Amino acid sequence: MNLVGNIINGYMFLEVLGSGQYGVVYKVEKDGNVYAAKLFYEHVLLKEFKNENNRITREVEVLKKANSKYLVKYYDDFMIKNEAGVKAYFVIMELCEGDSLTDYLKKNSLSLDEKVNLFKEILVGINDLHHSTEEGILHRDIKPDNIIIKKDNSVKIVDYGFAKMIDFTSITNTGDQIGSPIFMSPEQFRDSKHIDPRADIYSLGVVFYYMLTGNYPYEANTIEELIYKLNSTPIIPPTRYNKEIPHKYEKIIYKLLAKKLHLRYQKIEKILEDIENNAIEEFIFENYFYPWCINEKTVMQNYLKEKADIKVIFPIHMKTSQQTLYSMVCSSELKAIVDPSTHRLSYDIFNNVGGLKSLKYAPTEGIITLDNLRDISFRTKYISDWYDEMKDFEEIILPYQYISNSNYTKDCLEGWVQSGIQLINEACNFLYDKGSKQKKYAMIALDINHLVYDKDMILSYYSSIETDGIFVQVSGIKTINKLQLGVYVNFIKELQLATNTRVIALKVPVPLGLYLLSLGIHGFSCGISALEYFDEEFINKDRKAFNIYAKYYFKELLTLATYSRSEAYQLSPAYDYLEKCNCPYCKGRNFIDIAAEKNQTISLHFLHCLCEEIEILNGIVDPDEKIAYYKNRIESAINKYNNLIKSGGLKKNDQYDLLQIIYSNM
Ligand code: ATP
Ligand code: MG
Repeated sequence: MNLVGNIINGYMFLEVLGSGQYGVVYKVEKDGNVYAAKLFYEHVLLKEFKNENNRITREVEVLKKANSKYLVKYYDDFMIKNEAGVKAYFVIMELCEGDSLTDYLKKNSLSLDEKVNLFKEILVGINDLHHSTEEGILHRDIKPDNIIIKKDNSVKIVDYGFAKMIDFTSITNTGDQIGSPIFMSPEQFRDSKHIDPRADIYSLGVVFYYMLTGNYPYEANTIEELIYKLNSTPIIPPTRYNKEIPHKYEKIIYKLLAKKLHLRYQKIEKILEDIENNAIEEFIFENYFYPWCINEKTVMQNYLKEKADIKVIFPIHMKTSQQTLYSMVCSSELKAIVDPSTHRLSYDIFNNVGGLKSLKYAPTEGIITLDNLRDISFRTKYISDWYDEMKDFEEIILPYQYISNSNYTKDCLEGWVQSGIQLINEACNFLYDKGSKQKKYAMIALDINHLVYDKDMILSYYSSIETDGIFVQVSGIKTINKLQLGVYVNFIKELQLATNTRVIALKVPVPLGLYLLSLGIHGFSCGISALEYFDEEFINKDRKAFNIYAKYYFKELLTLATYSRSEAYQLSPAYDYLEKCNCPYCKGRNFIDIAAEKNQTISLHFLHCLCEEIEILNGIVDPDEKIAYYKNRIESAINKYNNLIKSGGLKKNDQYDLLQIIYSNM
């Protein structure tokens, strides 16, 4: 039925402006004024609106109260019955000529600022709508087709409130393409009747995402796939489509599109504030060294006398074999961030590693696979079991997996990253629901080559993390080359910048850790003069296979030199050449004597030296000065090394190579 040429209720129907899912829009004229008339047929309406004639009028009465220059004005409404007895409802509204936002974006190539300004007007318009009446009006169908950009480039939002009256199940979607649903919030899919302004805020997020990327946050071919992804996978990071998107807007998008209502923006004013706020507070984090503590009970008991507030990292699977240490952690006598050691559970060997099997979340059969992690019911149980082990500690690391295990292939790298993010988000939600006040840290564990292969993809996911800190442990640093080091350092730097959260490089050799700190990274961690590197081999093979030697920290070389106790004399030339250590533990004594001591002097000496290094770094306020200071340190260490090598006092080794590589990256 084409109404052009007819006069209905005094309105002359002039032309069809277009049609959508549930109606046709005409240009009409009455008393010399032109309007747009939106027509709905009865069959698209919800039962309650069909049954009661004036209900739709009452609804439109409310919508008429909306008043904002960004909202199309609704003026009138009426119902007619045609000859066949079919009821048709009309809403007469302000006519706005222009392009829909979809067409406008296609026709004009806008700068980032222009897009953001447009989005700000849309935000103000929806905010006006939400504050229109005492109860507020929800739009319920925000999408680029319902935003008109007029000839003078001003924004008009149309179709607000109509979705409340429409029975979407009656609308047969002919095309396979997903149109409108992609803009709908997860809760709107679940129960469209009981939504609040945050559902509109979600849709605004999809609009903003679309404006900045030309794409949508989920890739889905069917509604079922969309609903699944909406509820259980992270969004495709917007920077994957457009690398130029400033981090600030990426963050805003993540918060607009949060699945959980409590994590989403609660108020439009706050979105506007965050957009306006150009100088996002960039934190400068104090430097810190976190000893990786596995069995150093006596060392820590002694060291606490020097530094009572030292904070260590403690892997939970040591709780059975290191009961004293564990009880020190439990009683907070020793402050610790507790690591759930979950990454080890993806390896067959975990059954042989003491303490792992008895963890509540350790699989009783097989290992943890990517397929497990993709399964929401698996994750739910995994997280709740993890929590049972973690609930009594003040500071905890969320469950994590080492990206890849024996059946890893490159094409599932993104899958591992996604499931890593899911674990983090879902564990955070779990803690929130429990009302937990614990400090929570995320952990990223991967191989250096994953970063070389796809650093930006990995970063685009992890930049959404919102925790109290993020640990990064990277396998393959022992044999790192120049290219890899560059990528690694940039990854850590960009991660801290993007998340504005403390980043801690876990299990890195001292000169690399201190280098990161000099660049402004918050912290690093390594074993207390024992295990310095993180290597997949350590979790992949039986730990007994690794002969962990004692190490003496040579401050001037920034190096932990390895020796077996009985052969300490081998390091004497270096010791004789360098300054004697006057720390409270070495007290300038002969190196051979220190090495022979069984009272962990070498470990205490190491902790003391490291904390001294940190103090110096924290004492330098100017970032450039900090870098310059450390460059000098490296340079002098390399010189001393060279002299020692020349005189035959030391052989070239990994540590020496690392210093060279770091220096070449400076
Ligand atoms: P949906 O049915 O999901 O809202 P849609 O927005 O594409 O989809 P309609 O709302 O029926 O479809 O709108 C059809 C066309 O009429 C669109 O091109 C829209 O830009 C235009 N239109 C809607 N309202 C007005 C108005 N007040 N003034 C001028 N044109 C309008
Ligand atoms: Mg519309």
